[in-house]
Amino acid sequence: MKIAFFDAKPYDKPSFDKYGKEKGIDFKYFETKLNEDTVDLAHGYDGVCVFVNDTVNSAVIDRLSEMGVKMIALRCAGFNNVDMKHAFGRIHVFRVPAYSPYAVAEHTMALLLTSIRRIHKAYIRSRDFNFSLSGMTGFDLHGKTVGVIGTGRIGQVFINICRGFGMKVLAYDKYPVPNLDNGDTIRYVSLNELFSSSDIISLHCPLTDETNHIIDADALDKCKRGVVILNTSRGALVDAEALLAGIKSRKVGAACLDVYEEESDLFFEDNSGHILEDDTLARLISMPNVIVTSHQAFLTEEALENIAETTVNNLVVFAETNQCPNELCYRCSGAEDCKTGKCF
Ligand code: NAD
Repeated sequence: MKIAFFDAKPYDKPSFDKYGKEKGIDFKYFETKLNEDTVDLAHGYDGVCVFVNDTVNSAVIDRLSEMGVKMIALRCAGFNNVDMKHAFGRIHVFRVPAYSPYAVAEHTMALLLTSIRRIHKAYIRSRDFNFSLSGMTGFDLHGKTVGVIGTGRIGQVFINICRGFGMKVLAYDKYPVPNLDNGDTIRYVSLNELFSSSDIISLHCPLTDETNHIIDADALDKCKRGVVILNTSRGALVDAEALLAGIKSRKVGAACLDVYEEESDLFFEDNSGHILEDDTLARLISMPNVIVTSHQAFLTEEALENIAETTVNNLVVFAETNQCPNELCYRCSGAEDCKTGKCF
């Protein structure tokens, strides 16, 4: 089987080569992202393998299907970059529903601790032999309230980590997890209560029409003064301009972003020699209480291995049985009980 692998990075190749070789899949790595201009590179391949910032819109899907490409293997969990409605009946789409929820949840806590204990400042100061502590006062996490929006795999691991720190958890999910609410230290509440009562808010829900800008000016208005916003899910969950305004007005005490609304042309690449056109991102990065990492929360050895193994299995299982448990479709929107054949 021949698969065109888009947006390839050096850290992708060892694990994909290993699992591909074991199962007879030949990956051709393209550094470019998949989009309308590059889609013809997939000519002659059985499938494409894509990541979070590849563009899989209707035009790309039409061209892939015209060229006889039968499979789109997402090597990630989120699928907001795929026009699932248009893909329905034209091409099969698989994803990696879970690889290491620990990778993302632990990165979220790393960002939170870095931010509130000013580790990012301390690192730079001590390299300059500046051992002054002024401006370094943080606050204890113990006893604070964290609002967790989205209590799926990553959200639940993050909740466990927060509980380890002695924090109280207010949770919100469109589909609450049975038995997670213990009526005491972990409680499901309305979004409004979560906004008004949380010291820290962490986003772990997917990006959908409903969750787009779930943190906007209105939401920030309802929050406590000094709230810390954590986003390691998808950029457009947060209205970046509203967040910037909240930072400027001191309503938001700190923000930690592993994802950004307009990240697709910037993140994962070295832009250090370029003039940044995005004034909102530049201003956010200039703030002492904002930490930005470039969508690296997933990047652990364990996650890379799991991603490659599951992606290869998705392709092989589908080629052999015409079914794949990790297939996505428009009708069920990737619900847990999605079964190939039933929906497609
Ligand atoms: P998951 O499917 O296990 O959990 C998502 C949860 O969000 C579910 O419980 C679901 O019911 C809930 N949800 C759905 N719609 C909602 C809504 N409108 N309001 C509130 N909650 C809603 O997914 P996961 O594996 O925990 O991943 C969560 C998100 O993390 C993914 O969607 C992805 O965007 C992001 N992610 C980021 C990285 C990274 O490197 N930064 C890596 C992996 C995943």
